[in-house]
Amino acid sequence: MQIESGVSLRPYNTFGLPAVAHTLVRIGSDADVRRVVDHPELGRAPKFVLGGGSNIVLTRDMPQVVLKVEVRGLRLVATRGDAWVVEAGAGESWHDLVAWTLAQDLPGLENLALIPGTVGAAPVQNIGAYGIELKDRFESLDAVDLVTGRSVTLGPEICAFGYRDSVFKHALAGRSVITRVRLRLPRPWQPVLGYLDLERKMKESATAAPSPQQVFDWVCAIRRAKLPDPAVVGNAGSFFKNPVVTPEQCRDIIGRDPAIVHYPMPDGSVKLAAGWLIDACGWKGKSIGRAGVYERQALVLVNRGGAIGSEVMTLARAIQESVYGRFGIRLEPEPVVV
Ligand SMILES: Cc1cc2nc3c(=O)[nH]c(=O)nc-3n(C[C@H](O)[C@H](O)[C@H](O)COP(=O)(O)OP(=O)(O)OC[C@H]3O[C@@H](n4cnc5c(N)ncnc54)[C@H](O)[C@@H]3O)c2cc1C
Repeated sequence: MQIESGVSLRPYNTFGLPAVAHTLVRIGSDADVRRVVDHPELGRAPKFVLGGGSNIVLTRDMPQVVLKVEVRGLRLVATRGDAWVVEAGAGESWHDLVAWTLAQDLPGLENLALIPGTVGAAPVQNIGAYGIELKDRFESLDAVDLVTGRSVTLGPEICAFGYRDSVFKHALAGRSVITRVRLRLPRPWQPVLGYLDLERKMKESATAAPSPQQVFDWVCAIRRAKLPDPAVVGNAGSFFKNPVVTPEQCRDIIGRDPAIVHYPMPDGSVKLAAGWLIDACGWKGKSIGRAGVYERQALVLVNRGGAIGSEVMTLARAIQESVYGRFGIRLEPEPVVV
């Protein structure tokens, strides 16, 4: 366990926002979490668990003890008739895990390629892309309770996954450090290609049966064309969740805006494309101060250079107000505002 003071968090958040952690502890194992819990001063202090900082907006310096999760390890733990089970340390890069599984001939995560951040944060918001969510591949995870120091293994029922949601945003918010995640990769492998962009790639390549590596390459190419690389332009990916409305609300909006992009959900509700709503309000490419709306995707807010967290939040609130004013819909931010 390594304890550091006065640490700049700018390199540790993909928005590139300035903030200083009063105390930062690097966590390499379950035992490190227990050492923090049992520590005479750190034990009682409020804590914030940090992964790769790709889903947070830092608006101020952090008086909390920042626990930077750096638990390592990638391994195949079981080969069953219907699935392989792999285990990854929470501090591993999510994308590196996806690439490693493919290199080991263990396909199933390719649609989730190039999502920034760590393995440990993936269950927190049930990451998803191109037709797959973490919950579709989830087996179990290990976590350490930040009050008792006890290690637990949690299955999918307790994690209560939903759309960009889980128990770690509710009953267990700020309560536990996820240290390892196990993923279940179904055998035999079946490609998931229902998404429009992937269907287009299939047609372009004239391939009837793509390999997992091909799907991985397509997903990476699609994402690189659409989303800004945080190493070049600070951002936290999609800034707002896609709002889910009742069919009646959707009909009402279609009546006024027939072009609205919407997706019927299996439970009868309708998901609206938040990016479309923001674009329709004229925000694409606009800025407030040093925070702006990405030119190629209105759902992504970017740091135009030297922005601070409050500028990002001022822009976010202005967007929320105009979308509410025009459509009567409240957009909910996806990143955690700290
Ligand atoms: C360019 C870009 C594209 C993106 N695309 C997608 C996408 O397609 N789909 C998607 O779902 N997301 C996407 N995201 C969002 C982000 O990548 C994911 O939410 C990712 O899982 C966050 O990981 P992180 O390690 O950076 O978490 P952080 O930002 O560090 O933390 C996020 C939250 O998780 C908590 N947390 C982190 N690690 C742990 C842990 N070990 N134990 C307990 N709590 C923890 C934190 O306290 C915080 O509340 C994108 C982001 C960017 C910048």
